[in-house]
Amino acid sequence: MRFIKCPHCRKLISDKVAVCPKCNTKLLESKEENEKNRPAFIVCDECGESYSSDMLSCPNCGMPAPDYK
Ligand SMILES: [Zn+2]
Ligand SMILES: [Zn+2]
Repeated sequence: MRFIKCPHCRKLISDKVAVCPKCNTKLLESKEENEKNRPAFIVCDECGESYSSDMLSCPNCGMPAPDYK
């Protein structure tokens, strides 16, 4: 489990909660946060193979990896 700082009251809270327990600020993930949380593995749409998101294409069928930019 990771901890994040509430942007409103700066209390350290679990990143699993949707609302800060101290000040009730909603903690929905920003787009910037989503980019950092790029998944470690991609599941190929074509063949279902899972592979590292560092790879540019599926090692099984060659289908290009989805773009997370
Ligand atoms: Zn807060
Ligand atoms: Zn594949």
